[in-house]
Amino acid sequence: DVLVNQIAAGEVVERPAAVVKELVENSLDAGARSIEIEVEQGGSALIRIRDDGRGISRDELPLALTRHATSKIAELDDLERVATLGFRGEALPSILSVSRLKLVSRSAEAAHAWEIGGAGDVEGAARPAAHPQGTSIEVRDLFFNTPARRKFLKSEATEFRQIQQAVSRLALSRFDVGWALRHNKRRVYEFVPAAGEEGRLARLREICGEEFLAQSVAMDESRLGMRLHGWVGLPSFARTQADLQYLYVNGRLVRDRLMGFALRRAFADVMHSTHYPAYVLYLEIDPAAVDVNVHPQKTEVRFRDATRVHDLLFAAVHQLLRRLRP
Ligand code: ADP
Ligand code: MG
Repeated sequence: DVLVNQIAAGEVVERPAAVVKELVENSLDAGARSIEIEVEQGGSALIRIRDDGRGISRDELPLALTRHATSKIAELDDLERVATLGFRGEALPSILSVSRLKLVSRSAEAAHAWEIGGAGDVEGAARPAAHPQGTSIEVRDLFFNTPARRKFLKSEATEFRQIQQAVSRLALSRFDVGWALRHNKRRVYEFVPAAGEEGRLARLREICGEEFLAQSVAMDESRLGMRLHGWVGLPSFARTQADLQYLYVNGRLVRDRLMGFALRRAFADVMHSTHYPAYVLYLEIDPAAVDVNVHPQKTEVRFRDATRVHDLLFAAVHQLLRRLRP
């Protein structure tokens, strides 16, 4: 079973940033309002995530580390409209199979926390531990038992950049959650839950930079039962690379070629520019009209009516930029 998990790990956790993403998504699924991420040596030495979510009961601890033990799909019916971020039940067992993992958690009902873990596989039963309500997961020595995979890790700086990128994407999807990110004990992000516009802009500034803030416009458009809101960079902020493009569908970051193309086309059409647009955009759409269960990394989506979605993206951004054209 360890081998099966390691094979699955090849898909789910190809690098430290993927581990961070999976663990943080679990924290969000657990209703966390505060998530602390501590990383050492680009994640290859340590990734530690601590949340204040609902926690895991003693009985469920071993299950959380077992393949396909997802607690998130009560009935098959739910697959039709997946509200939570994770739903495959493979992340934790996959990560455990290629690391030294420690999971400490306390649910609201429990008198104290419980801890379980192992190196490559679960070792021993749950032991009592100290922890406030919520969960901490510590992942050490990623790929220690798969040397070929470990060799493929890039430099510490590159791996950390990926982690920071992953955290940025998540932090921009949940302004209501507080975030902390540290690398080698150095503070990288510290975001309090952002209630109003001011808080959101402050976070946007930290993540996307002062220049983007100064050279972008806010938008909020509702059409045909869909809503598109967020910020679009002005032509003066045009990029030579597609490096500032955040697009969320129902709160989940997606990298959809056709959606990206619709936005780029709108930009090119108004600006007569071959540069890349910069944007942080959120599309809200009836969950029944999208399928996010396309790929384990879940960054692709499939729409029931893709044309309508692309048309909305194109038209809304096209109009916005046309109004702003000097
Ligand atoms: P999935 O997210 O697809 O259900 P995972 O392997 O990521 O699968 O997690 C397995 C299970 O462990 C989850 O279904 C959940 O019940 C539990 N779990 C994992 N992380 C947390 C967390 N931070 N807080 C509460 N429960 C968690
Ligand atoms: Mg998960």
